[in-house]
Amino acid sequence: ARAASAVGPATAGPGVGVVGADVRIPLVTGERATYANFDYAASAPCLTAVREVLDAALPYYASVHRGAGYHSQVSTDAYEQARRSVARFVGARHNDAVVFVRGTTDALNLLARSVPRDCTVVVFSAEHHASLLPWQHRGSRAGQVIRLPLPHSPSAAVAAAREALRTAPEGPRLLCVTGASNVTGEIWPIEELTAVAHTAGARIVVDAAQLVPHRAFSLAATGADYVAFSGHKLYAPFGAGVLAGRTDWLQAATPYLAGGGATGSVTEHDVRWNDLPARHEAGSPNVLGAVALAAACDVLTEAGQERLHAREQALLGRLRAGLAETEGVRDLALWDADHPRVGIVSFVVDGLPADLVAAALSAEYGIGVRDGLFCAHLLTRHLLPEGHDQAVRASLGLGTTEEHVDRLVEAVARLAAQGP
Ligand code: PLP
Repeated sequence: ARAASAVGPATAGPGVGVVGADVRIPLVTGERATYANFDYAASAPCLTAVREVLDAALPYYASVHRGAGYHSQVSTDAYEQARRSVARFVGARHNDAVVFVRGTTDALNLLARSVPRDCTVVVFSAEHHASLLPWQHRGSRAGQVIRLPLPHSPSAAVAAAREALRTAPEGPRLLCVTGASNVTGEIWPIEELTAVAHTAGARIVVDAAQLVPHRAFSLAATGADYVAFSGHKLYAPFGAGVLAGRTDWLQAATPYLAGGGATGSVTEHDVRWNDLPARHEAGSPNVLGAVALAAACDVLTEAGQERLHAREQALLGRLRAGLAETEGVRDLALWDADHPRVGIVSFVVDGLPADLVAAALSAEYGIGVRDGLFCAHLLTRHLLPEGHDQAVRASLGLGTTEEHVDRLVEAVARLAAQGP
């Protein structure tokens, strides 16, 4: 019922994601009507439907799995219902676990501490630091970490993964790959990489932080073993994310957070850890975060992620075409220009530092972008043309309109023409 009320007839206005001719998905925005937000890849504004769900949950706000009182029961039900919604959203198999964590970074650090000891991990240099670094970080149980160079095509990525897994040491192996790049928006060949991993007897984890806000993803359909994503990139507030997938490694691992909730019994001499998912949700769980995240999942599912995708592709095409026609502007891509992307474009303007472009877009045109290396230093540095040390990133979402896109293109063209 909550999702049905979240997606209504289209009306024009700021902060309204119009999907097709007849559907809108309102966002909570404190923005001036003229502000054009192009920073959805960092954090997306909250859906009004999510706020409504939070409003309804707040009067019953209580610790879950701990109290016998009415509020605790209502909150526990809402928390477990949220888990079921998320399971549906990621196409979880019936025996997959859904663990609520703080975000994608937390999810991948949890997995790094849960893989079998000395698991070989294969990872591409193109990854966001959240999926590049946890495997070699303190507390990780991974053994050898094989970092693959940036592949020049999707098929080269598949071939490189196949070869690395074929020649990796015997024993458990995990391939870690992003679903969609937070720098270029390019969509990675998840099905093919999953097949390669499984043929080699390995597993695959998909960092879907930038994929699920734009496209449907299913563990069951792709066969992927794990998926990680963050609520704040999916139109819910900060503080909740998900690691979903196979239970055995997670169930065998000692929790990386020790504390209440994760424990079944504690004696003077012994600690018995709980089963999943509580095993990896130590401390008082973030009930409202989970409920909000699940509400966003429900709204996107109900609106139809393929419809959202189609709308976004039209805006993305408009933006890329506009930037391509602008002299002195180059967009960053690892692969061919026609390789599928989500609504993310990073670019440079010749002669202008990225921070200056971003500041001018904000101050002079009311456009919010991001500049920098986007927590993917290896990839971004590799893609930057000579003479540039940072890029500008424009990322699209439900509130993006054609007017926003046209304003961005025109503003970039003016800045490029003005020069330094
Ligand atoms: N992975 C990708 C591809 C991302 O874009 C991000 C955030 O930008 C993360 C992981 C980390 O997400 P979080 O900061 O929510 O943990």
